[in-house]
Formats: sequence, structure tokens, C-alpha cells
Amino acid sequence: MNFKEYIRVIPDYPQPGIRFKDITTLLQNGPVYKEAIDQMKALIQEKEIDVIAGPEARGFVIGAPLAYALGVGFIPIRKSGKLPGETIEADYALEYGKDKLAMHTDAIKPGQKVLIADDLLATGGTIQTSIDLIKQLGGDIVGAAFLIELSYLDGRSKFDGIDVVSLVQY
Ligand code: IMP
Repeated sequence: MNFKEYIRVIPDYPQPGIRFKDITTLLQNGPVYKEAIDQMKALIQEKEIDVIAGPEARGFVIGAPLAYALGVGFIPIRKSGKLPGETIEADYALEYGKDKLAMHTDAIKPGQKVLIADDLLATGGTIQTSIDLIKQLGGDIVGAAFLIELSYLDGRSKFDGIDVVSLVQY
């Protein structure tokens, strides 16, 4: 399946020069969304995974169905101030802005094998921050899986030693 046919590219959003990959057009198509998750599952099938962690908000849309498909837990990585329990936080820079990510301090048990999932790998800043948080909690990162990888930004070079897989590359 050519998933690019279902991903809408919006020029100059959210700021001039960015060609935003809009996955809402893929998500709204049931069979295509299902096929994308099934194919992502196949990419990570061989890994030993205890939990999948995904950053707000589109990381939930990819990470949660993957976790369900594998029968493992899902851990939300959220923007600062959204989680009710005790948290750890870290700053991060985006392709177009900056923010803070947070996790519950008891979200991951030391030694648990964690796969990170998100909709899109751009510069890798979001995932780098997610990795830092997961490591602080004692998690063992077994890989990172993305629906889309912007290869020209070479985000994956930030993650030496971490297996990065993606379904669609630009
Ligand atoms: P990074 O931290 O630079 O790798 O940016 C990745 C994050 O920004 C992901 O969580 C994406 O949801 C979001 N993002 C960046 N560029 C795009 C885009 O073109 N389409 C959709 N999301 C994007």
C-alpha cells in the first residue's frame, strides 16, 4: 500500500518553510489506518517489548493501537502539567518551537523493555527527550518506531545504538 497517497502535505504550516505531513487524512480511513498499524507491528514483531511509550498527542494515536496489537502496556508521555501524579520533566526543542515533556515517576519499572512510538521523526528532539525521561526511570530502550520519517533531517543519527524503524520516508 502506498501510504503517501493518504498523507496530506500542507505547505507553510505551522510556519513558512515547513511542509507539514498531516496524518489525519490517513487516520480517517479505517482500512488504511489498520494496515499502517499492522505493518508497523510487523516491523517490531521480533523485539522483546514490555511497554510502548508515546509522546502526546499523535504518539498516542500510533503507540496505543500498537500496544493493544502486541498485548503490552502503553505509557503516555505528556506535556508539562497534564499528568496528575508525581512526575519528572525535561525540556525539548521541536522542529518549530519548544516545550516540556513529563512522565509519571512510577510509569516504568527499572529494567522494563520500552519501545518508543510516534507519528513522525523530524529532528529527533521529541524522541531524544523521551529517551532521557525513560532512562531516568530505569527503562531499557529497545527501539523507536515511527509512521513517518523525514529522512532529510537525519533525526535517527541522534540515536546511536537504538534501532529506529519507520513505515514511510520522505
Ligand atoms: P522532532 O522532535 O523534531 O523529531 O519532531 C517530531 C514531533 O513533531 C512529532 O511528535 C510530530 O508529531 C511533530 N511534527 C514535526 N513535524 C511534523 C509534520 O510535518 N507533521 C506532523 N507532525 C510533525
